[in-house]
Amino acid sequence: MLKITNLTATVDDGAKIILNGLSLTVPKGEVHAIMGPNGAGKSTLSYVLTGRDGYDVTDGTVTLNGEDLLEMEPEERAAKGLFLSFQYPLEIPGVPTLTFLRTAMNAQLKARGEGPISAPDFMKKARAIGKQLKMTPEMLRRPLNVGFSGGEKKRMEIFQMMMLEPSFLVMDETDSGLDVDALRIVADGVNALRSPDRGMLIITHYQRLLDYIVPDAVHVLSGGQIKASGGADLAKTLEKEGYDAYV
Ligand code: ADP
Ligand code: MG
Ligand code: MG
Repeated sequence: MLKITNLTATVDDGAKIILNGLSLTVPKGEVHAIMGPNGAGKSTLSYVLTGRDGYDVTDGTVTLNGEDLLEMEPEERAAKGLFLSFQYPLEIPGVPTLTFLRTAMNAQLKARGEGPISAPDFMKKARAIGKQLKMTPEMLRRPLNVGFSGGEKKRMEIFQMMMLEPSFLVMDETDSGLDVDALRIVADGVNALRSPDRGMLIITHYQRLLDYIVPDAVHVLSGGQIKASGGADLAKTLEKEGYDAYV
C-alpha cells in the first residue's frame, strides 16, 4: 500500500537535511502511528507525501498502491486518494464547503476513470453523512471552515474524509489542542473509516489519541529516521519514558 524507502528530504537547496533515510511500510487495512520528539521531521514527512513546495527529495522512493507518488503533482496525489488532515485546517473564504468537496470528489473519480457524481447523488450522500456527524445544514452551506470553532473544524475534516473515502489517510497532530469531546469525534470518524482497503498514518506527539484509535503498529521517528517500531504498547512506553533513548 504505502511504501517509503530510504526517503531523504532537504530544505534550503540541500543545506539542511530533515528526513534522513526514512523507511516505512503501511500495508493495506492497517493503521500505523508515528510518534517522535519536536523537530523530528514528522510534519516534514506529511508535507513530502503531499508534495508541498519547498521540500526537495534527494534520495529514496515512495509508492502508493505500487505507483510512484513522488512523480505526481499534489493534485494528482489527492485525486489518487491520498488525504492529508492537518494540524490547522485551512479556511477558504468565498467557497461553500459542498462546492469545494464536490470538485475534489469529481477529481478523484476522474483519476479512477469514472464519471462525475450527479448533484442529487452528491447531496444525498452529504445529507446522510452530515446527519451521522450531527452537522447542521447551515454548517455545510458556509464557506469551508470560515468562522468554525476548533471542534467544528474537526467535525468538518471527518465529514470530508467520509465523503471522499480516501485510499490513504495521513493525520498530522490532528489531536493537538483538542478537548476530550473533539478527540472523540476525530477518533470515532477515523475508526469508522478503518477498512481492509484503506491505510492510515497517524502522526502524534502524545499517546492520548491512541487510547481511542488503537494502532496496528507504532514507529518512533527521530532525527529524520524511524528508530524503532512496535505494537500499540510502544506508545505507552514512550509516554512514560520519553524519547531520550532515541535521540
Ligand atoms: P516535527 O513535526 O517532528 O516537530 P518538523 O518536520 O516540523 O518536525 O521539522 C523538522 C526540522 O526541520 C525542524 O528542525 C524544523 O525547524 C526544520 N524545518 C522544517 N521545515 C523547514 C523549512 N521549510 N525550512 C527550514 N527548516 C525547516
Ligand atoms: Mg513540531
Ligand atoms: Mg509537526
